[in-house]
Amino acid sequence: MQTNKQMGRVIIAAAGPGDPELITAKAIRFLQQADIVLTDRLVSDVILSEYVNENAKIIYVGKQCRRGASTPQQTINELMVQHAQDGKLVVRLKGGDVSIFSNVLDELEALKANNIAYEIVPGVTSALGAAAYAGIPLTARGYSTAVRFLTYYKSEVINDGYWKELASTNDTLVFYMSADTLEDVVSNLIKHHVSHDVHIAVVEQATTPLQNIYHDNIYAFANVVKQQSYVSPTLVIIGKVAALTQQYGWIENSGSKDYYFKPVASIHPSTHTTNTISHVSRA
Ligand code: SAH
Repeated sequence: MQTNKQMGRVIIAAAGPGDPELITAKAIRFLQQADIVLTDRLVSDVILSEYVNENAKIIYVGKQCRRGASTPQQTINELMVQHAQDGKLVVRLKGGDVSIFSNVLDELEALKANNIAYEIVPGVTSALGAAAYAGIPLTARGYSTAVRFLTYYKSEVINDGYWKELASTNDTLVFYMSADTLEDVVSNLIKHHVSHDVHIAVVEQATTPLQNIYHDNIYAFANVVKQQSYVSPTLVIIGKVAALTQQYGWIENSGSKDYYFKPVASIHPSTHTTNTISHVSRA
């Protein structure tokens, strides 16, 4: 029987959108103290090799929407709970921020149900990273007074009435997990007569050395959207502000179609150690 004294703790920490320098000092401190690190796919290898203490065990629990293998949420919850019950300091490292389009609520429920102490360390969500590295202010006087974080990974999440509203707003719209449905996003906005001064910026692998931006007026973009496929992860910024990347973008496109982030490795609950690396090579 465990007593509270022997219980470990779980730190749910943000890793930032890609550039390893966009992690917080607090998350680094926990990685240096960690016994176990459960990491997402969208976490830079540099963070794992530079900041995780070398006795820690790193377990990949990647997820990838639509394609590829992924680790079931149940498995991630069990790994967190088991290691914390073994008295370990577990860091659950998530790409971007911890609370935006992540399964953090599932994880909190599992921790609460098992009486495990936790802390949450916020971070830079990819919308903020992509906007900064594309030179796009998400709100700006005369352009937009609000910003919305949305997703359209399956059609049920936005109904026709809401498209109408999205087409008429001055708010900046940021779509996560929507590269595969981008044609529908654009055509729904155009169908509802989105303003002709609205632009779109599609940012692949934002804040990484492989960042690429496709930018155009939304009506011009509608003619070419079909011809393009995007390298994951991709973020879409729509609004008058998206035009500003032309003037204020400060990074050249990489022109590369390589992948910065690792593909997902699947782990089976009983064989997860095969995907475990206890020590990653340090630069
Ligand atoms: N919690 C994450 C989002 C997870 S959902 C965050 O706060 O950013 C995964 C989606 O995030 C991807 O499909 C993509 O739309 C977006 N994303 C994450 N990292 C990105 C990056 N470096 N460049 C572009 N989009 C990114």
